[in-house]
Amino acid sequence: MESVNCNSCGNRVLVEKYSDAHTSIQWLEDASTACPEFEESRTKDGRVFVPTCPKLQETIDDLIMSGQLGLSLRSYPVPGRLE
Ligand SMILES: [Zn+2]
Repeated sequence: MESVNCNSCGNRVLVEKYSDAHTSIQWLEDASTACPEFEESRTKDGRVFVPTCPKLQETIDDLIMSGQLGLSLRSYPVPGRLE
């Protein structure tokens, strides 16, 4: 996996891109404390509706667009989406 720092909050995550539709993001810290964007999206009952920080997603998209984050050569770890 590639280490990626969120452009917005600097939170570091590990990213593995399996296909255009499947990018796996592994949080190293508790998401809600590591990322203000994530915390903001949390509702009163504590549930979070965004799967990841939108700024982090942008960061990852940029890396993919610029070719810095390529397709993983590994096969899918599990069926389904982890993002
Ligand atoms: Zn963030």
